[in-house]
Amino acid sequence: MKSNKQRRVEIKARRRQRAAVPATHSFKPDVRLPRVGAYASDDEPADRSVLLRYNNTYGPLPTFYAAQPFVCCDCGAQEVWTAKQQKWWYETVHGHIESRAVRCLACRRARRERVRSAGPGANLLGEQTNRLRALGETKPTEKALAEVDAALQSKWWSLRVVAIQTMVRWGDADRIEKLKAMIAARPEGGRRYWSWERVAADAAMCALIRRE
Ligand SMILES: [Zn+2]
Repeated sequence: MKSNKQRRVEIKARRRQRAAVPATHSFKPDVRLPRVGAYASDDEPADRSVLLRYNNTYGPLPTFYAAQPFVCCDCGAQEVWTAKQQKWWYETVHGHIESRAVRCLACRRARRERVRSAGPGANLLGEQTNRLRALGETKPTEKALAEVDAALQSKWWSLRVVAIQTMVRWGDADRIEKLKAMIAARPEGGRRYWSWERVAADAAMCALIRRE
């Protein structure tokens, strides 16, 4: 009788084997493009209606997910990001379409624990993010509005995005008007593609959709 641990090791080894790129394919095929020929048995079809709703990209959206081998950036372990895990990441938690798995489960847990157990000030961005989120739970006060305005100027774009989400949670006429202005000011393509204005417009649109 095999222990669960042995079985897990075997399953992982099998996944690695299946996901390994054959030596005859020296180029790495873009798994996001429609595949020509047969699908592997453990591929997962992508729900493009969900992806289109949460992603604003000029790049192609996947039509299916295939297991992807990767090396953990912390411990160097050979891991496989399974098709099911990818589907969950992109379609259930709406991870950004360009995001990829970089850490193995053990390193993910260790990292989370490190951040969680660090003293105050060690995770300034995390603390400010939680503070901003908490502001969204009650009606906006003068002070809260000033904090959100300040956060919109933060050097951390992720904090600015949380500020936008907080505005959406308040959802009063003034806030909605500001958000609609952000969406209207979205630059299309060109050099402005990586600008804050585009990120802001997408964040506002996404947060408004989620609220509906
Ligand atoms: Zn690792």
